[in-house]
Order: sequence, then C-alpha cells, then structure tokens
Amino acid sequence: MTVVRTRFAPSPTGYLHLGGARTALYCWAFARHFGGTFILRIEDTDLERSTPEAVRAIIEGMEWLGLHHDEGPFYQMQRMERYRQVVKQMLDAGTAYHCYSSPEEVEAMRERMRASGDKPRYDGTWRPEPGKALPAVPADRTPVVRFKNPLDGEVSWDDVVKGTITIANKEMDDLVIARPDGTPTYNFCVAVDDWDMQITHVLRGDDHVNNTPRQINILNAIGAPLPKYGHLPMILGADGEKLSKRHGAVSVMDYPAQGYLPEAMLNYLARLGWSHGDDEIFTMEQFCQWFDLNNLTKSPAQFNPEKLNWLNNQYIKLADNDRLASLARPRMLTEGAEFNHNPPLAPVLGLMKERANTINELADAAMLFYRTPQADPALLAQHLNDAVKPALAQFAERIETVEWHKPALAAMIKEVLTAHSLKMPQLAMPLRLILVGQLQTPAIDAVLELFDRDVVLARVRKYL
Ligand code: GLU
Repeated sequence: MTVVRTRFAPSPTGYLHLGGARTALYCWAFARHFGGTFILRIEDTDLERSTPEAVRAIIEGMEWLGLHHDEGPFYQMQRMERYRQVVKQMLDAGTAYHCYSSPEEVEAMRERMRASGDKPRYDGTWRPEPGKALPAVPADRTPVVRFKNPLDGEVSWDDVVKGTITIANKEMDDLVIARPDGTPTYNFCVAVDDWDMQITHVLRGDDHVNNTPRQINILNAIGAPLPKYGHLPMILGADGEKLSKRHGAVSVMDYPAQGYLPEAMLNYLARLGWSHGDDEIFTMEQFCQWFDLNNLTKSPAQFNPEKLNWLNNQYIKLADNDRLASLARPRMLTEGAEFNHNPPLAPVLGLMKERANTINELADAAMLFYRTPQADPALLAQHLNDAVKPALAQFAERIETVEWHKPALAAMIKEVLTAHSLKMPQLAMPLRLILVGQLQTPAIDAVLELFDRDVVLARVRKYL
C-alpha cells in the first residue's frame, strides 16, 4: 500500500480563511487516516502579495486548530535553485524550449486569434519540431522558457470529489515556466514540489481545477508519478454568494477572538463538504477514522453561522470548567470583573454554560457575579415590599447556620416561604436584586451556593 502524503499549500497573501482551513483539515485528516504524512508548504512566490504576517497568520491558525504538520513548512522562495535545475533538465530533454517572442508579439498573436474567432494562445513560433526551422534569435532579448505541451490527445483524471474530468490538450497553451529573469512560474513550482515532496493526494479548492491538466502534463514530462486529485467545492454564504466579509468573519483567527472553541470549528468545517451518516457531533479521532475521501459533497457548501453557534454551545457544555475559566477570564478582567470575595469562576461558568453560544457570551453573562451589585431602586422598592421584609429577616438569620450546599439552601428557602405564606419569586426576586443587582439569574439556590456565606450575609443585611 502506498504511504499517503498530503500537503496544505497556502499562498501567504492574507489570513487563513475558512476555505483554506477546511482544505488543511481534510489533508491532515486523510493523512492521519492512513498513518501518512501531512506537509505544510508556503507558496510565497508572488512577492508583491506575500507577507511574513500572512505566513504567521496561517501558522497561528493551524496551531489554534491543532492541525500539526509532520514536515515543513517548506517555502517555495527557498527552493529557487531546485526549480532552475528542473527547468534546465527540461530544456536539455526537449520538454521545454526558449521562446524569444516579446510580450508585444505575444499580445499581437492573441489579438489575431481573437479577431479570427479562435481561443487566444501562443502560436508556437519558437516551439521546436523535427524538421522545423526556428527564426533567428533576436539580439539583446532574454527568452522565457515555455513548456512543450502535448499538441494532441487529452488529459484526464479521476477527481476524488468531482469524478472524471477530461481536457483536450489543444485547449492548453505552451505555458511559460520561467520568466526572462529565470524565476519559475506558479504551476511549474507546484508540479516540482508535488514531485519532490512525493505527494500522493492533492486536495484543494476547485478554483484550481484549470491548473490541474497543466500540472499533470508537467509531471508527465518530468517523469513524476501523478498524485490523486480532489477539488473541493467552494464555501458559500447563506445567501448563496461566495463567502466574504459580509457574511461575518472569514479569517479563522477571528473565531477565537469571538469565543469559539477550536474543536467546534473543526467539527463544523469537517461537515462543510463531507458527511458520515447523520453524525453531527464527533471528535477529531472519529473524523480521522472516518475520513477516507468517500462521502465528499460535490455541491458547494453553505456557511451557516447558526449551526456553528449550536456546535460551539455543544462543545462549551462538554468543556472542562477550568478551561472555560481560563478562556473567559481575560475578557472579564477587561470588563472590570472583581474576582475577590466573589464566587470562583469555574463553577460559575459551569452553572451558566448551558445557554452560551460563545465564550464571550458566557463571560458577559457571568459578569453578574463579579460586579458590585447595584439594583435599580425602583425595582428594589417593588420587589422588597413589606410582605417580603420579615421573610428576608428570617432568611438572614437562617443563612448564618444553614449547611452551605444547594439542597440545604433550597430546603431552608422553602421553609421560610411556608412560614410567611409566600411564593418562590416573592423571595427569590429581591434576593437576586440584592445579591447580583438583576432579576435574571440561574436558580437562586444555585446562585447562593456559589457565594461565600459572609458575602451573602453582608449583602442581605444592608436591606434589613
Ligand atoms: N497556493 C494555492 C492557494 O493558496 C494552493 C495550491 C495547491 O493546493 O495546489 O490557493
């Protein structure tokens, strides 16, 4: 059995976007499925658009997601010597040739073809053929190197997502593989890299379908084995348009900032273009076990923020409360949370996480435990009326000795209510105002249990 080797090959021209992260996830999981190797390759030959910040953003995003590469990162800019070497080998072997046509001449050729209704392409002036006399080499002109694309026949591959794709060779130009200054061009570098890195499976966005026949022809020309290709349909917004900023965050690293957990993001991305029966929630171990390139979706996936929120909530509920606390604490500190004397954060989050879609929502909701309570006087007057005051006094007395856990607190409150013929909200509402300054909180016994007895006493006594 072949050893599986996959690669994620982003161009560092921006952030790591959701589509890129999904590609990386699939490449990673497929390698893991077969105990293979996952390679990170940075395609940084576009000097004008590539930046070191973008490289960092990609690496940071992959680290956050936990998509660890086994080899790399390899940088194409550091492989220039190797590309030059292969260009030379191809020139020597006659699978590439020098072309001295000037850019103006090439443009004129294209114009002529357009005018006669043909597909604009290089006309093969400098393409050597047996028995063909080439023009005289113009003085002072540095040539480009063109690939000698086969003239006849077709290129066909069995795409693991899209099925068989066939392109006639006559649809393809003799691609420039090296510019006059010797720098290699995109499709050529990808082919050489996939060869050198012994890539067995290329999974990438379907914006690369048009590049694949060119890369296959180059790989054939240099005698490289062909990887299997799979082109993933793009991710659309809920409105069916290409996913963009309008649909919310497109950069993966915006998600931790908004309070999403990496496992929720991974689970969400895994389902965005692939399915395993009706399974919606699964671990990455399961995903790696299942992900064998079957069940990939042919049609474009639609990004659905509500579903991501739902998943994030599921994972928040599963998450360890101490971990949630370390994620929520920095945000709460910037919002002025007073952690002294107030309940420990982990159990508070445990109590409140049921309904939180994000860590940020959870942190904001938990703030009610960490502010000096300032109840609206009108609300207080309404809820802490004369019928309730004697009950509050008895409550304060009982608080001094009651066992400090939820069932005992609940039983004590019930007794106080019965003694004063009150209903639960009549005591619970003013207590909430007194303890945390607002009416919406989790169950009063659960809230009480989290506070220190002394803090509760001090706050209640102010109103006696
Ligand atoms: N660098 C390309 C991109 O970021 C990917 C190329 C590939 O996967 O072959 O779209």
